[in-house]
Amino acid sequence: MSDLLLPLVKAGLAPLHAYKAFAKAFPAKLDANESPWPLPAEARARIAELLSQIDYNRYPDAGAHALREALARRLGVADPEALVLGVGSDEVLAMLMRCLSQPKPGRARAAVLYPEPSFVMYGMRAIIEDCEPVPVALDAHFQLDMGRMAEAIERTRPNLVFFATPNNPTGNCFRREDIERCIELAPDALVIIDEAYGAFAGKSLSALAARYPNVAMMGTLSKIGFAAARVGWAALPRRLADEVEKTRQPYNLNSLSQAVATLALTELWPTLEAQVAAICEERTRLARELAQFPALTVFPSDANFFLVRCASDALGLAAALLEHGVSVRAFRDESGPLAGHLRITVGTAAENDRLIAALRTLL
Ligand code: PMP
Repeated sequence: MSDLLLPLVKAGLAPLHAYKAFAKAFPAKLDANESPWPLPAEARARIAELLSQIDYNRYPDAGAHALREALARRLGVADPEALVLGVGSDEVLAMLMRCLSQPKPGRARAAVLYPEPSFVMYGMRAIIEDCEPVPVALDAHFQLDMGRMAEAIERTRPNLVFFATPNNPTGNCFRREDIERCIELAPDALVIIDEAYGAFAGKSLSALAARYPNVAMMGTLSKIGFAAARVGWAALPRRLADEVEKTRQPYNLNSLSQAVATLALTELWPTLEAQVAAICEERTRLARELAQFPALTVFPSDANFFLVRCASDALGLAAALLEHGVSVRAFRDESGPLAGHLRITVGTAAENDRLIAALRTLL
């Protein structure tokens, strides 16, 4: 690109980094919070059969009706049109910010409030969508600091508030009463409860969406075995869903993803549930194994990963683990709350064994 064009790039993008992930598959891939389990052969055969029936010359079903209905049934959402579907919940949260972006009177930009540390895309996407990111530090136990939350809500009057619970990368659930208090403190903000990791917590806050008109639930298939399909959603108050739909790219979900995700939510659901249960069992074992290393502090997790604090150089340890065929998530956060931490996804028993063996050599 010519240097003459660079000044045209939105100034807010300058401090951002394009999202990067490992392209190479390592023998133990513990960096992206995916399910470690491949699909059984029968499930693959069903998918192959379905994909062979797609009309590849036609656009997808723009309204994703079959998927929408399967999802509504799975979530217990009475009105399928209250769901907004996206290419991962990444796209859904972008649509929410694009739609609810009208600054409140007296404010230059719509504020998007979220705890920190949490999912990085809340802040990144807010910048990309010309909203004002408002990160609010968690307390020392990674719980919501209600003093800071109340202050930030009052000061910035957010349009949107995001809570990932379980939270990424800390792994814990926030206290229900704290979230409820924030919902009440910000009745004119949409509070999005992001349950991307909800399956591993074995509980949901979806009852809050029934109780409060300013609450939406967000979810994804990415962590429970179908990251490849890129399907996420939000369940919204219906009138708001109709507005958010206006920001959706036409045909955002391709026919392949729609077919596969519909199968995942119906016929394959028992398989996914069994895999989630197996991950939760391995989580218990991995926590015990990791606790043996005095150089590591392992934080309790309701999700499919652990946040781990390293007594010595975390980035160095992550690089050394790669040499042993184990990829974990390190954070580019020299001075922030994630400095010195790694995030380690719960893998299969064999992957976790490989991690532990590598740590025994390295620590
Ligand atoms: N929310 C949280 C809390 C996440 O950790 C992630 C993935 N890292 C997402 C949403 C986005 O997931 P996807 O776009 O794959 O649905």
